[in-house]
Amino acid sequence: AEAKLYLGMDFGTSGARYAVIDKEGVIHSEAKRDYPMFMNGDAVDWVRSWKTTLFSLLEDIPITMRSLITSISIDGTSATTLILDSKTGEALARPLLYNESCPDALPIVKSIAPINHTVCSGSSTLCKLVSWWTSSDSSRESAVLMHQSDWLLWLLHGKIGVSDYNNALKVGYDPELESYPPWLKSQPYSHVLPTIQAPGTIISTLKEDIRIKLGFPEDCVVCTGTTDSIAAFLAARATQPGKAVTSLGSTLAIKLLSTTRIDDARFGVYSHRLDDKWLVGGASNTGGAVLRQLFSDEQLENLSVQINPMEASPLDYYPLPVEGERFPIADPKMAPRLSPRPECDAAYLHGILESIARIEAKGYALLKDLGATKVEEVFTAGGGSKNDKWTKLRERVLGLPVRRALQTEAAYGAALLALKATE
Ligand code: ADP
Repeated sequence: AEAKLYLGMDFGTSGARYAVIDKEGVIHSEAKRDYPMFMNGDAVDWVRSWKTTLFSLLEDIPITMRSLITSISIDGTSATTLILDSKTGEALARPLLYNESCPDALPIVKSIAPINHTVCSGSSTLCKLVSWWTSSDSSRESAVLMHQSDWLLWLLHGKIGVSDYNNALKVGYDPELESYPPWLKSQPYSHVLPTIQAPGTIISTLKEDIRIKLGFPEDCVVCTGTTDSIAAFLAARATQPGKAVTSLGSTLAIKLLSTTRIDDARFGVYSHRLDDKWLVGGASNTGGAVLRQLFSDEQLENLSVQINPMEASPLDYYPLPVEGERFPIADPKMAPRLSPRPECDAAYLHGILESIARIEAKGYALLKDLGATKVEEVFTAGGGSKNDKWTKLRERVLGLPVRRALQTEAAYGAALLALKATE
């Protein structure tokens, strides 16, 4: 018999991708689609757009490969929320996107949740739910909340109201208790909350009509997913405590696998559960956005060639695109520091790259001070990961081995969840 294959799909901020892998993790097929912009009056019809993209991507998979796919999982943007009728599956309101804020609900949420809880942010899933609950007059009794990836998976398996504990963190689920906390269970809308499974748990088989129409095998299962940033972490396969992934994109984000859970709202630090471990993270406002304000990507490459990564730069900057920092220093008024600027552009870039590396080192040191497992090895993702000189320089500043992650696509991480569910 031919080897079994596993499908992961990523519904990110700018488009959706799929990756088909085998049990060794080798990619057999991958592709990307942009979201089509269907309109519903003045608003984008996201329900139609995501659904169309889901089925377009399934049809993009070569048909001979589809018949070998035995498991499917999907990740989506965190805190993207749908409220549906649990009987008909119809949307009771337009979806609320990850970055949409519901300031009307924030005082209510703050009055019921523990101080500094993850849900105490206007864009949290719980604020979205409370905002809908307090403004809707009908269908409250039969409503069910699902995150974007839960909803896409539901289109494939048909069991309404199932989610995972990564997506559900921002609605208030406690992955340590494996339950919604008492302060949430006592709310009048608690019946709207979804049932929670670990990410990468089999929910059900693929719906028969879809399976037959698209040529998937009879035993193909659909599994719980996760959020897009966790799926991107999973892609790097940093599976041991002490392994970390630094993402050097527009901003600098670090994620570390830890045996202990840490949370500190001052620094925006919180922990996601990953089976018996914790994924702790923090995000600084420094990163590639500052580099892009000063240099083109071509200049970055040419100037980097001139840098000796073994040599410490005497320049001490705090590169920020605008005022304000959250992690590893919590100071909303912190000013960017990018002077004095030397004559030589390569020396300037050297100083900036080294300063960003020091912020990264400080970030890992802060996670350790807060009680996380000590970092041992760093994988890198994002635009900055292709700069080998920067990688060498970071190894010196961090005092750790630093490597470019082999896989960084969230779709690949989702495919690993599909694989894990069947093992
Ligand atoms: P985003 O977070 O926007 O998805 P990407 O992961 O695509 O970001 O990374 C883009 C960033 O990478 C840009 O801000 C750019 O300054 C930075 N970048 C691109 N090329 C290099 C390079 N050779 N060295 C360092 N940084 C780079």
